[in-house]
Amino acid sequence: MKTVRVESRRFTATFRSDGIIREAEKPLTFMIGWPDDKVRAVIKKNKWRAIVTAGADVEDVRRLEPEPERRKDADYQPMVFRCEVCGKEACFGYGVALLKDRIGTWYCRAHKPGAAGADRHE
Ligand SMILES: [Zn+2]
Repeated sequence: MKTVRVESRRFTATFRSDGIIREAEKPLTFMIGWPDDKVRAVIKKNKWRAIVTAGADVEDVRRLEPEPERRKDADYQPMVFRCEVCGKEACFGYGVALLKDRIGTWYCRAHKPGAAGADRHE
C-alpha cells in the first residue's frame, strides 16, 4: 500500500493504493476502486502534482512524474469522462461538483441533452 499526495491549484488530497485505490480524500473519492494506471492518466491529464509520501518504490515515483513532452502540450482536456449513452469521450458534464464529490453525468456532443436537431453552442 502506498500513499500519494495530489496537489493542484484547487486542492490537496491524499489517496492510498495497492494497485487499486482503496482510500481517497475529497475531492478524489470518485477514484476509489480505480486501478493505478487510470488514476495516473487523470493526474497527468490534469497536470496535478502527485507525490508518493509512503510505501512507494522508485518506479512508482518516476511513473507519476509528467512526461517532459506532455508538459508542453497546450490543448489538454481537464478530465476524461465517458458518455453516458455511447461510452465515447464526453465533453459535456451535467450536475458536476467535484469539490462536493460529484462527478455528474457526462455526454458526448452527439448525445448531450438537447443535441437532437439544433446544435447549440455552449
Ligand atoms: Zn455519446
